[in-house]
Amino acid sequence: MVPAERDRLPEYPEELRPTPTVEDYLGVIYVLARDGESVFGRKLADWMEVSPPTVTATVQRMVRDGWVTMAEDKTIHLTEAGRRAAASVVRRHMLTELLLARVLGVPWSRVHEEAHKLEHNLTTETAARVAEVVNESTVCPHGNPLPGHEALTEELIPLLSAAPGQRYLLARVHEEIERNPRMMAFLEEHCVVPGAEVIVIEVLPYNETVTVHAADREVVLGLAVAAHIWVEPLAAAANGA
Ligand SMILES: [Zn+2]
Repeated sequence: MVPAERDRLPEYPEELRPTPTVEDYLGVIYVLARDGESVFGRKLADWMEVSPPTVTATVQRMVRDGWVTMAEDKTIHLTEAGRRAAASVVRRHMLTELLLARVLGVPWSRVHEEAHKLEHNLTTETAARVAEVVNESTVCPHGNPLPGHEALTEELIPLLSAAPGQRYLLARVHEEIERNPRMMAFLEEHCVVPGAEVIVIEVLPYNETVTVHAADREVVLGLAVAAHIWVEPLAAAANGA
């Protein structure tokens, strides 16, 4: 453990944590804002799988309680308190995923859902202990960055921009896919997981598919899924070998 590293991580007082529902909203808003997306109620309804009126009511409460503001164009923005509380729950979510995946051996495709249930109750002290146990990992088991480490994933290459025939290391599967359990099970079954070596065989835009070679097998992915996967080039030496 590097103490300086740990000191940089966002801490948010346990006694000031909002309700689990508000934490869920904050987490989604944080991820969307992290990716530079405009956050609208409709987008939240889609992510949270709740009705637009439910989102409207919850967001109104969150505005009242100072977690978010709503601009004239109806975009939702985190306040400073909202951003800190959001970073805290996103970090607890990812640490819980790491604990489940690395220590408890929960299947990769299942850890997001499991962590979603546990993250709200993780104390600051336990979160710090988990961070130590997972060696201060800066990405979750899906390759998404822990809050404060977003720069790590900026260098990654979208799978759809990868050169066909070249070998890459799969590095990241976005939260947009994480929240789809059947898709996650499919990816895991076909070894389309972080750490796997992948080669793009062909991209067929008119068919909306991309065929990749992963762990010695070919698998056909939809473009919508492939758009949420990132890779990194294998070392030049490895490519030449
Ligand atoms: Zn994750």
